[in-house]
Formats: sequence, C-alpha cells, structure tokens
Amino acid sequence: MSLHEMPLVEGVFASNWVAPAGPALETFEKEFAAKVGAKHATAVVSGTAALHLALQVAGVGPGDEVACSTLTFVASANPIRYLGATPVFVDSDDGSWNLDPGLLENFFRKRREAGRLPKALVLVHLYGQAADIAPIAKLCDEHGVILVEDAAESLGATYQGRHPGTFGRCGIFSFNGNKIITTSGGGMLVSEDPRLVEEARYLATQARDRVNYYQHSQIGYNYRLSNVLAAIGIGQLRVLEQRVEARRRIFERYEALLGGLPGLSFMPEAKHGRCSRWLTCVQIDPVRFGVDREAVRLALEAKNIESRAVWKPLHMQPIFAACETVGGAVAERLFAHGLCLPSGSAMSDADIERVAEVVRACARP
Ligand SMILES: *Cc1c(COP(=O)(O)O)cnc(C)c1O
Repeated sequence: MSLHEMPLVEGVFASNWVAPAGPALETFEKEFAAKVGAKHATAVVSGTAALHLALQVAGVGPGDEVACSTLTFVASANPIRYLGATPVFVDSDDGSWNLDPGLLENFFRKRREAGRLPKALVLVHLYGQAADIAPIAKLCDEHGVILVEDAAESLGATYQGRHPGTFGRCGIFSFNGNKIITTSGGGMLVSEDPRLVEEARYLATQARDRVNYYQHSQIGYNYRLSNVLAAIGIGQLRVLEQRVEARRRIFERYEALLGGLPGLSFMPEAKHGRCSRWLTCVQIDPVRFGVDREAVRLALEAKNIESRAVWKPLHMQPIFAACETVGGAVAERLFAHGLCLPSGSAMSDADIERVAEVVRACARP
C-alpha cells in the first residue's frame, strides 16, 4: 500500500457506504477508465469475474469455441468453460512470450475453410508485456472473431503507446493481491461500448430488471466490487506509475547482476511496447547454465526465497487435456526453462542482490 489508501478507506467508513455500491466505486471506475484510456469501466470482485462477464456479453455460450493463449494462468480459460464453451489453445512466440499472430492466422484460415471459426479470442498480455495486438486485432476483425483482452497481468504496460486491454471488444484487469496494484481482490472490465459495460454491470448485480420490485429475466451474478475495496483501488491507481518504475528498476538490477551468465536469458521486451516488468522472468538453459530451472528454484527455496515456474501451459493441464491446441512447443519450452524471480515493488537492492547471488552460485563455474 501507499500512503493514499487509508484516508480514502476512512472516508468510506465515515460515509457508511460499506456495500457493493457507493461513491468510491463510481470514482474508481471513472479514474481507472481515464488511466488506461478506456471509455467505460465496471468494477467487479475479481479479474476472473470480469472475464466471465466479458465473454458472456460477447455472446459466448454452450457449443461455441473460444481461442485462448496457452501460456497463461488458468483463470484466462476457466470462464470459457463456465459458459459451456470449449477453449482452443494457441502457442506463444519467442519475442513476446505471448500469442503468435502467425499461428493464429493459419488457424483462422483453416477454420474459415472448414466453416468453423471460433466465436471469440481471449488474448493474454503476460507478465507485464502486451501481445502483438495490431495484427491479431486485424485477424479477428477480418474473420468476425470477437477479441477479448486479458490484461490482468499488464496494467501499466503499453502497446504502441496505448494501454493493452483497450483494443478489443472488452478488456479485463485484476487487482488480486499479487498484481501490480491491488485491492486485495478485485477486477475491472473496460470497453468502448457503453451498452456492453452496462450489461456487464447488470449481470454483476444479480440481473435485476429496472422495475420497482425484484424481477429477474436473466440469470445474474453477485460480482460487484465492494465500495471499501474501490477506495483502496483509487489510492493504488495514484501510484501505478511508481509501481511500474519500481518493477522495471528491479528487472534492471537483476539484468545487471545476472545478464552475463551463459544459458540464462530474460523475457525479451518486444519492440511494440513498454513492458511493466510485473515479474522478472528468466529462462535457464540447463545445458549451458549447468543446472536446470528446478535446481535453481530449489536452491532459492533452501535460502527461504520463493520463486516460481513460469505458467504451465493450459494445453498441458489435466483439465484441458482433451482440448485442441495450435502449436505448443514454444510454451512448453518456456514452462520447462522459465522461472519468475521475486519481483515485489518493495524489494530493496540488498534483497535483489541476495536473490541474484543464489542464482549466480548455481551456474556452471
Ligand atoms: C490473475 C489473473 C487473472 C485472474 O484475476 P483474479 O483477479 O485473480 O481473478 C486472469 N488472467 C491472468 C493472466 C491472471 O494472471
């Protein structure tokens, strides 16, 4: 937390708007939309809930297929299943670790010939880096596939100077405890289309019809964010740029300390944008480095330092084993060799040096 949140939360208590409604919620939505350059936004209890609503207002339903980046957290694909649709996973490229536009083009072409295009695409912006949105958005446009952006990990990043999450029909963000800014838990759905955001907000509040008694013509959800948590969000938004600066600085320190080691490479920053460096991620080539990713992780753990493997691709998950996958070898390699180093915004130089020292000691002498 910064110094901004507590007075804002105290303001909420003073007003007694301790509810999933209130002035802080409206302010948070307005300020968030302005910050990312979106027209409209609605705040919900999680990024997962936001994605569920985004896909539902996109019209995804039983029997549909939805393409999705394979190298991501499971929350990118679970909402596809909530709606009774089926995910098709698409591999990453090495330059951004995000969805490969070339693979998507082939996939869409084949599916168009077969007359079986997916209804939508969940495009993930991973670890603070935007995917190459322009060619992907163009492909979606040409093939009538609805683009939904999962920018849960990439608030504060840019793509061609604009915020990822604002290019598709809807974009979603997360304020979970581990994200670059947090409300403890929370999410946001943004769109240029006021009707979509209105519909999402309606679904998020139990789909209550606009009459003076409780009437429901649709199944809704209890997904609205608390006004208390929205106050935390307003405070966190004020330090977003500082958080991005802190994460980028942490990355630069790691790079300075570990950059020369043979067999160790950092997630590249694609030319198309500015990475927030939400997490500093490396790949460890066991042959050149001397030991594998897991050995490094265990060496860190032995010093009470938590690091984590890069996301296990969704096409490798037991729950999605039967799903179709386009490519997959790049994501499999990034998972096999990828490690996320401690990257919390509050890390000191001494903390970073302590982590780097352990990693360095694992390398082939
Ligand atoms: C965190 C995350 C989500 C889900 O956000 P929650 O707020 O935790 O529900 C979705 N997609 C990705 C890629 C994430 O990292």
